[in-house]
Amino acid sequence: HFINYRAFSTESDKNDEPAKKTTKKTMEFQAETKQLLDIVTNSLYTDKEVFLRELISNASDACEKLRHLQNAGGADIENSDRDLEIKITLDEVESTITIEDTGIGMTEEELVSNLGTIARSGSKNFMTELEQAGSSDGLEIAKGIIGKFGVGFYSVFMVAHKVEVTTQPARGGPATVWTSDGTGTYEISELDEEIRQDRGTSIKIFLDSNYWSLLQESKITEVLNKYSNFVQFPIFINGNRV
Ligand code: ADP
Ligand code: MG
Repeated sequence: HFINYRAFSTESDKNDEPAKKTTKKTMEFQAETKQLLDIVTNSLYTDKEVFLRELISNASDACEKLRHLQNAGGADIENSDRDLEIKITLDEVESTITIEDTGIGMTEEELVSNLGTIARSGSKNFMTELEQAGSSDGLEIAKGIIGKFGVGFYSVFMVAHKVEVTTQPARGGPATVWTSDGTGTYEISELDEEIRQDRGTSIKIFLDSNYWSLLQESKITEVLNKYSNFVQFPIFINGNRV
């Protein structure tokens, strides 16, 4: 499985604590992913709230995968007695939405492959259909295709100018932070042991000012009721069970 990325700069932070230096790598999105991101961010697709459906469904999948791992037994699982749940936190001061799950999490390698390339079949179909449609009326056609296939995780860039993913793999190993503004590149670094997070994945969405209405609990509840009724794991918004 070929992953087309290239690390072209490394830098270190935390100079005050040389023993715990973290390395930040800047990576380039795969060419196809860049193209897809370009379309996602520039399309006039109106139903931008679908990003929430996509991220909640990913969180739910991650919890489901962890449940399978537990049922299979054998494997050592981080915080194995931790409940499987999804938490949404709205921060009006920072203008962020954070979606956390206590699911399977991702290793650094998985992060790079899952969020840096187009692995999912939905997005592949999307690109194929777009290519067949020709480039001249690409953006017009993109609207229809986004609705038809969904574009998974990348749909978050319809509403965000920056996204930060922090993830702790359930099988152990370091937690990784992935950050991007959804243009050409993303950054990857290992999370400092000291601020090591709970098992699973946390996605912090820095909202574009056009979407600050999403910071209202009632608005998020409405979107969840529209799209995410099927989710089997408990969902909390600012600590309240939905
Ligand atoms: P799909 O869900 O159709 O595979 P997405 O673009 O929504 O496509 O997500 C891509 C991949 O990223 C997923 O298949 C999964 O491996 C990984 N991923 C995304 N969100 C999470 C999460 N919250 N926890 C663990 N893995 C995730
Ligand atoms: Mg998905």
